[in-house]
Amino acid sequence: MLLLALCLASGLSPAHATGFNGQSYVPLVDWARANGLKCYWLKRGDEIVVTNRTTRLVFDKDSRMAEVNGTDVALSFPVASDHGVLLIAQMDLNTAIRPLLFPPRFADAKRITTICLDPGHGGKDTGNHTFWHSEKTYTLALALELRDQLKKAGFNVILTRSKDTYVDLPDRPALANRRGADLFVSLHFNATPTGKDEVEGPQTYCITPVGASSTDAQGEGANFGATAANSAEQKSLLLAYQVQKSLVKNLGAKDRGVRRARYWVLRDATMPAILVEGGYMTHPVESKKIYNATYRHQMAQAILIGILTYQRLVSPPPPALPSTHRPGMNSNRVSIPNPRAVKTESLMTK
Ligand SMILES: [Zn+2]
Repeated sequence: MLLLALCLASGLSPAHATGFNGQSYVPLVDWARANGLKCYWLKRGDEIVVTNRTTRLVFDKDSRMAEVNGTDVALSFPVASDHGVLLIAQMDLNTAIRPLLFPPRFADAKRITTICLDPGHGGKDTGNHTFWHSEKTYTLALALELRDQLKKAGFNVILTRSKDTYVDLPDRPALANRRGADLFVSLHFNATPTGKDEVEGPQTYCITPVGASSTDAQGEGANFGATAANSAEQKSLLLAYQVQKSLVKNLGAKDRGVRRARYWVLRDATMPAILVEGGYMTHPVESKKIYNATYRHQMAQAILIGILTYQRLVSPPPPALPSTHRPGMNSNRVSIPNPRAVKTESLMTK
């Protein structure tokens, strides 16, 4: 049985915010208390849980990865420790934690009607290449599958490419901007030079906050100014989070987290924009799934569920559908597939 040591603020936390990494840090216990959450140690001094009836956050000392209701989310700065008290950067509370726990009611909310899908690479740009498999082939196959499912759910869909053609990176978000897309979703598959047997699972990127370095940039790029995408940063994070959560849950995949990057295709988009890395072409088991149409169908379904969940959180309800419209996948309102059914199907194809 776990001993739940309540870390009361008195005697445990310093009274004032502290500076690390050039950032203002605050004790997690203080922030938790101010927001009606409680803390207990999973590992004293190293790993802390911040929780209430509906929320569970896990933070680790010196780590840039936090767990938000079961899904990993990259922080911009590592959790710090001062005399046994764990501290979090104020910027991470503002740009990673608060927007997920308390999704703002967006005053400019408008119904999502058009979604731009961006199949990564194409033409002379093959993307990752393993044996006779090119990433560009599978990003397009996934995009076409997702296009069909989104259309059935009532969305308009634009593709940055629908064939094996080369498209310059800046042209991709530019198309979404020009056509007034409400969301931009770039689709990729990953590869790793080392640890091929271990590294697997989807990860979802959204724009890096101003003043921070990207998740995989090892401290570089904190001086990069604001991008067009930073204006939709909170929505992009929420979309990335919901898509990542759905991918992990419905595919039964390993969670490689929500991450931040200033990729070309992300930083020029003026609408909420994410980049999904659907899994690793270098992993012996996951790669075979990526090359399998049934698995890609399930992956598209998981992305659709993430988008619909996001839509429910930020958008006004869609207008009433005409009475001739059949319910089910053709309806914008009741089109969420049963996640359990998806999970069962994915297990059956393993
Ligand atoms: Zn790629």
